[in-house]
Amino acid sequence: MTRQKRILSGITPSGNSLHIGNYFGAIKPQIELQNTDYETYYFIADLHALTTVKDSQTLRTNIMGIVLDYLALGLDPEKCVFFRQSEVMAHSQLAVVLGNYTSYGQMQRMHAFKDKLAKDASVESINMGLFNYPILMAADILLYKPYGVPVGEDQRQHIELTRDIAENFNKFYNQAIFPLPEPLISQKVGKIVGTDGQRKMSKSLGNTIGIFDDEAVIRKQIMSSYTDPNRLKATDPGKVEGNPVFMYHDLINDNPDEVTDLKLRYLGGRVGDVEVKEKLFQAHQRLFEPLRQRREILASDLGKVTEILTTGAAKASLMADKTVSEVYKIIGIA
Ligand code: ATP
Ligand code: MG
Repeated sequence: MTRQKRILSGITPSGNSLHIGNYFGAIKPQIELQNTDYETYYFIADLHALTTVKDSQTLRTNIMGIVLDYLALGLDPEKCVFFRQSEVMAHSQLAVVLGNYTSYGQMQRMHAFKDKLAKDASVESINMGLFNYPILMAADILLYKPYGVPVGEDQRQHIELTRDIAENFNKFYNQAIFPLPEPLISQKVGKIVGTDGQRKMSKSLGNTIGIFDDEAVIRKQIMSSYTDPNRLKATDPGKVEGNPVFMYHDLINDNPDEVTDLKLRYLGGRVGDVEVKEKLFQAHQRLFEPLRQRREILASDLGKVTEILTTGAAKASLMADKTVSEVYKIIGIA
């Protein structure tokens, strides 16, 4: 089995806009991979969003919102295959097959399921879409036989399950159908902490700093971010290490001298939180404002955006349908 020079990743439109954790942890690396000699496949995992989004108009808005974010951030449909999962039937087809090579025990160990159970649900009320989510995700990946999947740390377990399912299937039929995909997860930015300073920045936790939200929203998110809880006034020496606001500065601020100066003054008790946060807000503006304008231009011609997705789905289907035909033959359906 030759390893393919192919990369694949997706994003679920569970909300209508992305945050800086998504950007630095997943999207930026994905965009950089477009400029290598890997073929890149990126998709909007709209069927996955059904686990949490049941209102049809909300889902439509979410899908288009994430598509526009992705394109504005630099996804180039000339360089990658960009599509919606629901427009490529093979995702659902392969998921139905793969469920037969996955055990209930494996599924019960999945974090997303366990977290949901721990948080607010009883087993009886968990929908099967959520429970089966990792199988659909395995299908999403294996259809394209990619070398690697660039994602954040929270997706590691799902990639591991995908590898297990692939291995199981390959062994069962004694054929090397599916290459085992590598998780491409950055040590440094694979798990960006949220503004609560405790948990991973997540759409669903409301501890985010947005990218294209209104200026007032972004300012509020930055201003209310957790810093050093032991520092009561600006003249107290503060902690820089592990302080989320400085982590964000390191990611966002294009002026390293300013960041160094702020850090030194913070350590010495010579700067207030407000100035540190105000400078972070300004750096956010410098980085994302030009992209916001690009997003507005894209949003003014949604017909063109839909066309990009249709073309992408046709290209993706060529590859994905081939894999489904191959699988159908092997299992004895075709
Ligand atoms: P949800 O709360 O609905 O799970 P999310 O904020 O975790 O949303 P996802 O849509 O699950 O975002 O993730 C999209 C991509 O961004 C995935 O590759 C995921 O691993 C990555 N990602 C999400 N949050 C972070 C984070 N805080 N740091 C680094 N990468 C992240
Ligand atoms: Mg997530």
